[in-house]
Amino acid sequence: MTLVPLPAFADNYIWMLHDGTHAIVVDPGDAQPVFDALAREALQLAAILVTHHHPDHTGGVAALHAATGATVFGPARERIPEPFTPLAQGDVADALGLRFEVIDIPGHTAGHIAFFLPAGASTGAPLLFCGDTLFSGGCGRLFEGTPAQMLASLDALAALPDDARVCCGHEYTLANLRFALAVEPDNVELTPYIAQCEALRARGQPTLPSSLATERRINPFLRSREATVLRAVCAHAGLPADAQEPDVFAALRQWKNDFR
Ligand SMILES: [Zn+2]
Repeated sequence: MTLVPLPAFADNYIWMLHDGTHAIVVDPGDAQPVFDALAREALQLAAILVTHHHPDHTGGVAALHAATGATVFGPARERIPEPFTPLAQGDVADALGLRFEVIDIPGHTAGHIAFFLPAGASTGAPLLFCGDTLFSGGCGRLFEGTPAQMLASLDALAALPDDARVCCGHEYTLANLRFALAVEPDNVELTPYIAQCEALRARGQPTLPSSLATERRINPFLRSREATVLRAVCAHAGLPADAQEPDVFAALRQWKNDFR
């Protein structure tokens, strides 16, 4: 089984998993990069997984479904192109002999879901397709959910295995890491990771997938309870040291929104 990030638009990734004959894609915001990859590798599209309703994740679904008949799996609580199999927490999506577990992760959108594939003989280390909820070094903006929801969603993802490969919807890593360094200037994990990601981008390569072990060490949005992050956020936002966790998280997200 081969994992390939297909670049789309300015900074999206459409994730493709294939076995040399059949393929699955995640969040095809644009059909053309998928059609090109299918033709290049002589693949048939078996399934389309959709994490949330935003057009840059769903724009290619109808054309791909019409051309290939691929089964579409998507979030039960959101509107995406019909027909699709609606999924929520605890459901599974079966495709290519693989069983993807669905996790509800509201926050970026109200019904956002993630697809988690446990470690397997054909696929190797676990795979997490988390759309626009968890990015390397960052998290999605809260367009529809509350800070408490997003914090709970990130907690659910952070509970997955260390070696889970984090397949995000966007190449936002370097901008996220500039912010992470502002929050935690003394985090010794950040400098080498930034250098590694800068080298990848200089060669035109994706910084993704990341791993959950890495994200737990460098991502301030998974570290909002760490003393260093807590102190920095409270100082920046003028919060008391005993502020509630969702309030700290909200202030951290607002800091990032305003960060240039
Ligand atoms: Zn989105």
